[in-house]
Amino acid sequence: MNIIKKKNIFTEINNNKSIFSFNVLKYFGSRIIDTLIHTPLSYINNNYKESYDINEVGKIITLDLQVLEHITGYNKKSPLKIITTTKSKQILNILFFGNFKSFYIKKFKKNSMYRVTGKLQFFSNNYQIIHPISIFNKNNLKSFENIEPLYNLSRKKINKKKFRELVLFSLTILDSYEFPKEWIIDKFKDKSWLSFKESLKLLHNPINNISKIKAEKLRKRLAYDELLANLLVFQKLKQKQKEKNKFIVNNFENSLQIINNLDFKLTKDQLLTYRQIKKDVSSNNKMYRLIQGDVGSGKTIISLLAVVDFINSGFQCVIMAPTEVLAKQHLKYFEFFLSKLNIKIEILTSKTKNKREVYNNLILNKTHLLIGTHSVYNEKIKFYNLGLVVIDEQHKFGVKQRINLIQKSSNCHTLIMSATPIPRSLSFALYGEIDVSCIKTKPKDRKEIITSIINKKKIEDLIDGIKRKIKNNEQVFWILPIIGDGDDENENETAISRFEYLSKIFKNEVTLIHGRMAKEEIDSNMNDFLKKKKMILVSTTVIEVGVNIPSATLMIIEDANRFGLSQLHQLRGRVARGNLQSHCILIHNKNLSEISKKRLMILKESSNGFEIAEKDLFLRGSGDFFGTNQSGLPRWKFFSPYQDLDFLEKTKLNCKDILESKNNKVSALLTDIFYKKTDFINFFSR
Ligand code: ADP
Ligand code: MG
Repeated sequence: MNIIKKKNIFTEINNNKSIFSFNVLKYFGSRIIDTLIHTPLSYINNNYKESYDINEVGKIITLDLQVLEHITGYNKKSPLKIITTTKSKQILNILFFGNFKSFYIKKFKKNSMYRVTGKLQFFSNNYQIIHPISIFNKNNLKSFENIEPLYNLSRKKINKKKFRELVLFSLTILDSYEFPKEWIIDKFKDKSWLSFKESLKLLHNPINNISKIKAEKLRKRLAYDELLANLLVFQKLKQKQKEKNKFIVNNFENSLQIINNLDFKLTKDQLLTYRQIKKDVSSNNKMYRLIQGDVGSGKTIISLLAVVDFINSGFQCVIMAPTEVLAKQHLKYFEFFLSKLNIKIEILTSKTKNKREVYNNLILNKTHLLIGTHSVYNEKIKFYNLGLVVIDEQHKFGVKQRINLIQKSSNCHTLIMSATPIPRSLSFALYGEIDVSCIKTKPKDRKEIITSIINKKKIEDLIDGIKRKIKNNEQVFWILPIIGDGDDENENETAISRFEYLSKIFKNEVTLIHGRMAKEEIDSNMNDFLKKKKMILVSTTVIEVGVNIPSATLMIIEDANRFGLSQLHQLRGRVARGNLQSHCILIHNKNLSEISKKRLMILKESSNGFEIAEKDLFLRGSGDFFGTNQSGLPRWKFFSPYQDLDFLEKTKLNCKDILESKNNKVSALLTDIFYKKTDFINFFSR
């Protein structure tokens, strides 16, 4: 008891004494509050009853049952029948098929009472439950919960029972923790919202059946808090960014030459964006700019021009990409243009062997441009004079990582490139006060992708088309939503099964990548595809946003209805990078709902990422509980970029109020809850 008293919600869960291995804690975060802000996705009503009636047939029901008798069948195939009775003396049979009959005979002792949950059925004049979902000994009902919260524990290496224990334990500590009365300004607070603490408690421990509407209200309050915490951090960062710019860029000669020697003409929007950047970096302000442009709109070349200007003015640059594949692609692209200019580039990823040498060259200014994955933010790295940080495809990085990066680069200019079309208000929520350049015009000779929608039944018809493409030396992507072999889906095609199917037809022209492969294997298979050793790439969505393969002209997406529209649009953007005519084929299941049909039609009819995102949002409505995972935007705990923008203005004012009243206690508390304090090294004490 003593130990618990001393703990508060930010205490690290003690590994030795607790039931949880370090591995598990690594996934959630190791503090008590980290567990608590991992709230349920939904709830099961176990429907506990004293007795059953005919109306409950076909439904899940929980009953207390006393065992009367075991009846084993005549042969191996006939089921074990356990005859039981409810409190009100109704008879009910529990049936078990298969090899574990003797186990169940031992488990269900005659005359003992059990709490059993399962689907009630009526069969040849008997009521029965076949293979119950759960069985509790009546003397040990501690962990039975009539309203059972369902947590998303996939990939988290912890079973639901253990996690639930951890939650219940953590809730006892939350209970004894004192919070300030309220940090939301009264007039901004929805009357139906509970306090932060009560909201968390109720989400984990609903007293009665919790409706979707009620759960949504609880989430919304917490979403407000999360956004507020986020704004507090950004506001603090901004103050730092306001400090005087030490890196004034004044040499634009080489970039002009590059532009003149390009074998294409920059589009109007590209030129405008570049002009805006030049204006930023030659003034006294620090640039903090987002380049937003659809896939293939040509963002990279703009960042390249900026990099050249910085380096020629005497400053170093760093480019960060979310994956190894993209980092390498950038290296190739930049080397092509910069090697003639005597600019020295180096790459740094987790696999880099001569790290120390790379670090050395940076501090000595022997390397001018560093390209890499998030490894480039290693604390050991010291630049000679870093002037520009370019972050590509930002949204792949989590909220926490992003804030970290911006903080670390707050001395210099920052350029962020993103292919996710987002409204202005949303970019504020994601990046704080950032300037935005949009590249809306597409390169001129780019051909529109022809998109078609086909039924799964017609898959075989595609094979001829693929053969033609390959003959023409063009490449094919085939994307599926699930990996297979171990996924719980069974009726759908998986990446692995599709790979096997295609390998039978196309022999060794096919390669595969998915998220359960080792990174080395992904890279090596991806490389085979890049080098055209393989012509068909079967993949889950690990295939990166931003990968540039001009000879890939066919994108096939299976079970397309299971992806978000923006995600489909981004996947489609992997093709049509060159000047060849490209195609995208969306394959759907036999029985597609009206709304799903409409969604796919949007994609067929539009090639404008902004328009697609807007329509997707409209069709989705607000039914997408906790649903930002398909949008390609970073995951938040509670905040949903599409559903919660209504309170953005309020949270801004709320944030201002907290900062002006110097309420450091609230600032620290809120940011600690959502972002670990050590992430910001005493952020608010400075
Ligand atoms: P993204 O904006 O998706 O990052 P990239 O920068 O990778 O797109 O550009 C895709 C391809 O288009 C690259 O090969 C690039 O050189 C080329 N490109 C860029 N701008 C133009 C343009 N104005 N006209 C023709 N091709 C261009
Ligand atoms: Mg790109």
